[in-house]
Amino acid sequence: MTFEELGVRSDLLSAIAEMGFESPMPVQQKVIPILLGEHRDVVALAQTGTGKTAAFGLPVIQRIDTASNSPQALILAPTRELCLQIAADLADMAKYTPGLEILPVYGGSSIESQIRALRKGVQIIVATPGRLIDLIDRGVVKLGDVHTVVLDEADEMLNMGFVDSITAILSHVPEQRKMLMFSATMPREVERIAKKFMTDPTEVVIGTRNEGAETVRHIYYMVNAKDKYLALKRIADDNPNIYAIVFCRTRRDTQEIADKLIADGYNADALHGDLSQQQRDITMKKFRDRVITLLVATDIAARGLDVDDLTHVINYGLPDDTAVYTHRSGRCGRAGKTGISLSIIHSREKGKLRDIERTIGKKFERKEVPTPKHIIEKQLYNLADRIEKVKVNDEEIDKYLPGVSKKLSWLTGEDLLKRILSLEFNRLLDYYKDAPTIDFIDEKPRRECGGKSSEKQNRKPVSPKDKDRRTAQPGMERIYINAGKNDGFYAGNLIELLNHAIRGKRVDVGRIDLMPAYSLFDVRSADAAKVVGALKGSEFMGKRLYAEVAAEDKDYARTSTRRTKGRR
Ligand code: AMP
Repeated sequence: MTFEELGVRSDLLSAIAEMGFESPMPVQQKVIPILLGEHRDVVALAQTGTGKTAAFGLPVIQRIDTASNSPQALILAPTRELCLQIAADLADMAKYTPGLEILPVYGGSSIESQIRALRKGVQIIVATPGRLIDLIDRGVVKLGDVHTVVLDEADEMLNMGFVDSITAILSHVPEQRKMLMFSATMPREVERIAKKFMTDPTEVVIGTRNEGAETVRHIYYMVNAKDKYLALKRIADDNPNIYAIVFCRTRRDTQEIADKLIADGYNADALHGDLSQQQRDITMKKFRDRVITLLVATDIAARGLDVDDLTHVINYGLPDDTAVYTHRSGRCGRAGKTGISLSIIHSREKGKLRDIERTIGKKFERKEVPTPKHIIEKQLYNLADRIEKVKVNDEEIDKYLPGVSKKLSWLTGEDLLKRILSLEFNRLLDYYKDAPTIDFIDEKPRRECGGKSSEKQNRKPVSPKDKDRRTAQPGMERIYINAGKNDGFYAGNLIELLNHAIRGKRVDVGRIDLMPAYSLFDVRSADAAKVVGALKGSEFMGKRLYAEVAAEDKDYARTSTRRTKGRR
C-alpha cells in the first residue's frame, strides 16, 4: 500500500518522500483513511515510534482550508517537548503546502510572543492544556472553527492531572468535530474521556513496535575502504542531532577514528579496553550527558553502557560474527523508538552483508552517501529549527536590543535572515565545495570532480600501519611531544593544548599518532617552529611537556623517559 492510495495529497507526498517515508506504517494505514474520510472519531492504542504523528498529521494538514486563517485543528500534548516535536514534524510535512501556519503553544515560554503569533492567524495549534486555557481566558484563542481535535499521549495528560483543563478546552470546540485520541495504554480514565467526548469511536490497536529488531531499519552505504571515514563524517553532518555509537572492530581503529573525529571538530570520544576504568567511566558519563554525541567503541567496551535513546548505531565495517551485528543493532530502536542501524562497508564485505540478512531475516536498504546539497539543506533547516526553539529571555535581551537593533536597522528582515543563515552556510559551502561522490559503483569508484574541496584536503591519511609513523605528510612537519596514552593524553587534549598555547590563530593538525609514552602529530611546516616553542614548558596534568620537530631516525619509544605501563 502507498500513501497515495491512502488518499494523501501530492504536496504532502513530496514532503514525506524527502523525509524518507517510503511506505505507510500500520498506524498510518489504519488512521489516515478514517481521518480523511467519513466523520468518525478514533481511539488509537499506539506508542511513540509507531509513526503516529504522521498518522494524524497528514490528514489534519490536508483538511485545513488555507484560505481562512482561523484555528481549524487543535492538537493537545502533555509536554513542551512533545508539542515542539509535533509542531516541527508537521512543519516538515507541510513543507510544500503554502499558506499553512502551525503554532506550538506551551508553558514556560513568553506568552506575549505566542499571543502575537496567534493574532497573525494560525490554522493548527499544538498546545499543552494549561497554556491553552490561559490563552482562551485572555480571549486570544477562538476555537469556534476547530473541526479536528487530537489528544496525543492521552494517558500521560490524564496522569499529569489535565482532565479538567481538557474538559474546559473541549467545551470551546464545536460539537460537530472529529476527535482522535492516542494513548499508549488504556486506563479507565482514558476510556471515560472517550465515552464522554467521542461518538462511537473506531478503535485502532497497533502492536507494540519496541520489541527488538522489529523497530530497526538496516541501511548500508558502500564506499571504497579509504573513503569510509569521509562517509562517516557525511552521515554525521547529515544528521545534526545524531546520538550514536560507532562500532569498530579493533581498539586501534576505535581510537584512531575517535581522534580524527575530535580533530575535525565533532563531539566524539573513544571507548575501548586500553583505557583505564576511570577513563571509561568518564567517557560513558559524558556520552549519557550528551556532552559527547558520537561514541566510537569496541563491542566489548560498549557492553557496560546502557542508553535507550540512540538515534543510530553505526557499523564502521561489519563484524565477522553475525550475532555481534544483532547485538549492536539491538541497541537502537528501544523504548518504542524507531532505530537505524547504518553500516559503512566496502565491496568485499557484500558476502558478510548477505549472511547477516539471512540471520536477521531482513533486507538491508542501500543508500547513497548524503550529498553535500542534502547536508547543507539539513544543516540549514536544523539552524532554522534552533532559531525557532531557542528560549528567549525577553527581560535580559531587551536591555541590549535597542542598540543592536539600531546597528542593524539598515537591513531588511530578509537580509537579516540571509546573514544569520550565512554564518553557518558559508562554512559548509566552503567545506563541501567540489566534494566528490564517494559511493562505490560497479566495482569502479565514481569521481566526478577534480576535488579541490577542503573535505578532500582535510582527509586524514590512512592507518599509521601503512606509513612510517615518523614521516610527515607533504607540506607538513612531524612534531614529537612527550605525552601519550599512558598520561591520559588523547587527540582532544592535544587540540585543547594547542588552542591554549597558541591563542588567536587556529593551528591545523594533520595525522596524530598516540603512543603509550609519547605522541607524534603533523602541523603545517610554516607553523612547526611556533608550535614547538609554544608547547615547550607547558604542562599536561602536572607533567612538564617537551616538544621537538621529530627526527625520522630517532627511536622515540626508547628516548621517552617515562616507562610504558602494561596494557589492561
Ligand atoms: P512517531 O511515532 O510519530 O514518533 O514516529 C516515529 C519515527 O518514525 C519518526 O522518526 C518518523 O519520522 C518516522 N516515520 C513515521 N512514518 C514513517 C514512514 N512511513 N516511513 C518511515 N519512517 C517513518
